[in-house]
Amino acid sequence: MAKLTKKSVNDLNVRDKKVLVRCDFNVPIKNGAITNDKRISAALPTIEKLIEGGGKIILCSHLGKPKNGPEAQFSLAPVAERLSELLNKKVVFAKDDSVIGENAKKAIGEMNSGDVVLLENTRFRAEESKNGEAFSKELAEICDVYVNDAFGSAHRAHCSTAGVTDFVKGETAVGYLMEKEIEFLGNAVENPVRPFVAILGGAKVADKLNVIANLLEKCDTLIIGGGMAYTFLKAQGKEVGKSLVDNDKLDYCREMLTKAEKLGKKLLLPIDDIVAKEFPNPIDAPIEIQTVPADGIPADCMGLDIGSETRKLFSDAVKTAKTIVWNGPMGVFENPQLAKGTLELAWAVSEADAVTVIGGGDSVAAVTQLGFAKKMTHISTGGGASLEYLEGNVLPGIQVIQDK
Ligand code: AMP
Repeated sequence: MAKLTKKSVNDLNVRDKKVLVRCDFNVPIKNGAITNDKRISAALPTIEKLIEGGGKIILCSHLGKPKNGPEAQFSLAPVAERLSELLNKKVVFAKDDSVIGENAKKAIGEMNSGDVVLLENTRFRAEESKNGEAFSKELAEICDVYVNDAFGSAHRAHCSTAGVTDFVKGETAVGYLMEKEIEFLGNAVENPVRPFVAILGGAKVADKLNVIANLLEKCDTLIIGGGMAYTFLKAQGKEVGKSLVDNDKLDYCREMLTKAEKLGKKLLLPIDDIVAKEFPNPIDAPIEIQTVPADGIPADCMGLDIGSETRKLFSDAVKTAKTIVWNGPMGVFENPQLAKGTLELAWAVSEADAVTVIGGGDSVAAVTQLGFAKKMTHISTGGGASLEYLEGNVLPGIQVIQDK
């Protein structure tokens, strides 16, 4: 596996220095209570490392999408409380509507080595998402060193993820979470141990155009299942009935099929499907299903999962893989009758002697719901950010960090 080229928290001497850490504390909050604290606990290794190093740790993050500045429902106050519990250490919440106002400056001024302060939601400042210079400078002025550990926000050039690095006096580095994403997700795509099998699923072709094109170039075998497969099948001239089809993307799919042939890559599509007359409503309601060949979907039916022959075809293809990257379920996995494709493939992926990377979004929900999360090498924490990685894009939040 290629080495990380960016500076990491391991390379820093933070003793007595003020370290601004951009975290991803964008947790779900209902009536003031955090309903899932995974993102907070995921940030602990970096924070603990900096505490051990004797730094003065100033944490910042966005939370939700406040429209016009400060909104009480998006305050990070509950995060400070939970973080105190998880660290077993007082985390001072710098309540301040302007994020870096008098209150925050006072809290920072009173810090000793090993202390932790959490700033208010960076999006309380409208300039944050515009990467404005003034707020970037303010953030830089309160610290000596900057660490970005917010992979979920790394695809956005905001003040706290990018702009701040233009003005920070000292070093910049990635935290452990970022490091993991770069090592596993980045290297899986850029330096894969071969054979490299990429699996794409989910609803729409249009959402993942660049992912398909990029992965086709990088992988040895591309498996396409889920709703997006039907546009490909229709592009091949097959009858797909009422299945999800993006008619604007038929030419694009033909282009990809030709590209695969030219590059000598295997592109696997469903050879049979589980179909029903209607989409289940509610999504987990029992429905009447049947399995049909991929070129025999009845006109009044829609494909909602891959069939047993396809499950075998796809599972066999991942068995010998050394690198597997997966984004998007094989069917409507939220319904137990339509989860078999995703389930069987998750099983095959988890059994393969390979680096297995789940690339964010609904695929994470699927493998978690089906109980396979612990068996994967790496589960990406950022939906949008991981898709951009799979598209082959450079993420601004990583690009701005100093090289080693
Ligand atoms: P995405 O966010 O693009 O990964 O899409 C995930 C969603 O795609 C899930 O909610 C699945 O229920 C849905 N999905 C998967 N297969 C199909 C299909 N054959 N028809 C319609 N929706 C599907």
